[in-house]
Amino acid sequence: MKSFLYIIAGEIGIYVGMELLNSESKDITDEDITVNIKQQIEGTEIDFEPDDTEVLKLNSVRKTLYKLYSEKLAKFRRIRDKSTGWFIYYWWHEFDLLEEILIEKKKLVDNKLRERLDFEEKNYFFFCKTCQNINIKYNFDEAFELNFKCPDCGSPLEAQDNQKIIEFLKNKIVLNQNLKISID
Ligand SMILES: [Zn+2]
Repeated sequence: MKSFLYIIAGEIGIYVGMELLNSESKDITDEDITVNIKQQIEGTEIDFEPDDTEVLKLNSVRKTLYKLYSEKLAKFRRIRDKSTGWFIYYWWHEFDLLEEILIEKKKLVDNKLRERLDFEEKNYFFFCKTCQNINIKYNFDEAFELNFKCPDCGSPLEAQDNQKIIEFLKNKIVLNQNLKISID
């Protein structure tokens, strides 16, 4: 979740996203978010406006919120303030959608890895040690047709050890399965 926010809107995206999460039960304005983040980073090294004496501008928070909005991860409604005539923007997150997207992605990755593993396990490759060209490899049927001899130099073809890639794929599958998808 945090890394996703980071990709979309940078470091500030994480802070804004967390504020939206923390205010799930109530409306929060862009101004409230700015004040809250400023309080959080007070006394730290964090400065979102390095060219400026300010540490965080309302405008930067607004830009970040619009980035999240354009990614369908946040929504707002606006109400005109009767005394000032200005619009007040109330924001909330739509991170539940993100969870669905990530779960879909995880499934997709799992399928791809399993397909590849299946392929590696079923296909036992042969190659020529003399030619040393690892890009040229033959499956069992092809090697059989060639009488297990390299068509380029005539050396005997040897079975390629794809145990390493099989192990690698199995580890990847486990890692992907253990990947926790949560918006905490
Ligand atoms: Zn050869």
